[in-house]
Amino acid sequence: MSEPRILILGGGFGGVFTALNLTGAGDVTLVSDEDHFLFTPMLYEYLSGEVEEWHIAPKYGELLDETVRFVQDQVVGIDLDAQSVSLANDNQSLKYDVLVLALGGISNYAGVEGAEQFTLPFRKIHHADGLRKRMVEALDHIPPDMPPQDVRRELTFAVVGAGASGCELSTKMADLLRDAFKRRALRGEPRVLVVEMGNKVVPGMGDPIREFVEKALGQSRVEVHTLTRVISVTKDGLTFEHQGTREHLKTAAVVWTGGVKMSSLLEQLNVEKNPRGLFLIKPTLQLSSHDNIFALGDIAVYPDAAPTLAGTAQLAFQEASLAGDNVKALLSGKELRTKHFEELGEALSLGTERAAVLAGGKAFGGSLARQARFALYTSRLPTWHHRLRVGASWFFDGTTPRPLLPLGIQR
Ligand SMILES: Cc1cc2nc3c(=O)[nH]c(=O)nc-3n(C[C@H](O)[C@H](O)[C@H](O)COP(=O)(O)OP(=O)(O)OC[C@H]3O[C@@H](n4cnc5c(N)ncnc54)[C@H](O)[C@@H]3O)c2cc1C
Repeated sequence: MSEPRILILGGGFGGVFTALNLTGAGDVTLVSDEDHFLFTPMLYEYLSGEVEEWHIAPKYGELLDETVRFVQDQVVGIDLDAQSVSLANDNQSLKYDVLVLALGGISNYAGVEGAEQFTLPFRKIHHADGLRKRMVEALDHIPPDMPPQDVRRELTFAVVGAGASGCELSTKMADLLRDAFKRRALRGEPRVLVVEMGNKVVPGMGDPIREFVEKALGQSRVEVHTLTRVISVTKDGLTFEHQGTREHLKTAAVVWTGGVKMSSLLEQLNVEKNPRGLFLIKPTLQLSSHDNIFALGDIAVYPDAAPTLAGTAQLAFQEASLAGDNVKALLSGKELRTKHFEELGEALSLGTERAAVLAGGKAFGGSLARQARFALYTSRLPTWHHRLRVGASWFFDGTTPRPLLPLGIQR
C-alpha cells in the first residue's frame, strides 16, 4: 500500500515547523510561493543590515531533508470534497489524504483609501529591500545645503500602526536615518511618525514592556500619534484625523503595519469561521468539519491559548509541534493530543542599539536586551544546523548595522 499523502500549504512558521516535525513520517509535500522560510521577528534587523538574508531567510532546500518534497508555487484553489489543491503554475492538482493549512495572513488595509496602492508593506524580504531603497533614494535627493525645515519635510516617513511591528520598524528607521544624516553632514533631522488609532502604543502588551517601548521611541525621536486615524494615502503623502481635525502630510514613504486578514483563497473555503474570517478549529488543530484537515498559525483561532498569542509566530511555532504529532497520531490510529499554549515572553528590537525583553514576568531593556534577543532568536531558528551557522556568524562577525550609504557606494 502506498503511504498516505500529507500536504502542507504554506512555508512560514506553521508550515515549516510542521514539516520538520513530520520528517520521515510519510509522503510529505510542502507547498509555498517563495523559495525560503522567513524568520519575520528579525525582518527589522535585516532592514538595518544587522543581520543578513541567509541568517533569517534560509532556503527550504537547506532546511528540509529529502523525505519532504518542496514545491514552489502559489496555491490557487483548495477542493475539500475532491481532496485536491490546484497551483498557479502546474495544471496537475495535488491530491492529499491529510492537509495542513498554514497559509498565514495578508496585509489588512481596512478599506483606507489609497493604502493598498501607495503604502509599502513590511512582511517579506523584498519589502524590506524596497523600504531601504526608498530611504536611500530620499536621502540622495537632499543637497547638503538644504535648510533644516525643508530637509525635515522631504524626509518625513510615516508608519501606520503602533503595535509591536510599527514600534520596532519606526525606531529602526529613525536610527538609520539619523545615522545617515551624520555621515552625509545634512542639516536638521529626519521625521519619523508612528500613527495609531488606539490610545497607546503596543496595545496588546503589558505595561512593564510598554514603558521600555515608549522610552525607546523617545530616544529614537519617533513622533507618536495615538488616537489618530489614517483617512487616505496618496503617492506622496497621507491624511490623518485626530480629535476631529484632519491634517495632510507630505511623506517620502508610508509603511503599513496595520494588521492582517485572510486571503481571498481562504475566504472562499466553506468551513466554520469566526466573524473575522479566521478558521475555528478543535483543540487538536483539526477543522470541526474535516478530521483530516489541520489549520494553524495566523489563519486559525486556537481555543486554548493565551489571548495575547493570537497572530504570533510564537503560537504558530508551538502549534506546529502539536500539528506534527497529531498528524502522525491520526495516521497511526492513536488518540490525538490537545495542548494549552502560553506566552513564551516578548522580545522587541527598538532601534539599532536597544531592545526590550519580557522573560519570566520581568521586563528589561537597553543593549543587554538587544544581546539577549539575539541569543534567544538563535535558539528559535529552524534546524540545529542553521542555528549553529547563524549563531557562529553573529558571534564572530558581529551584528553591526549597515549604514544608508548613497546609491552607487552601497556595500
Ligand atoms: C515584520 C513582522 C514581524 C513579526 N514579528 C513577530 C515577532 O516578533 N513575534 C511573533 O511572535 N510574531 C511576529 N510576527 C507575526 C508572525 O510572523 C506570524 O504570526 C507568523 O508568521 C504566522 O505563521 P503562519 O505559519 O501562520 O504564517 P506565515 O509565517 O505568514 O506563513 C505563511 C506562508 O504561506 C505562504 N503563502 C501564503 N499564501 C500562499 C499561497 N496562496 N500559495 C503558496 N504559499 C502561500 C507565504 O509566503 C508564507 O511563506 C511578525 C510578522 C511580521 C510580518
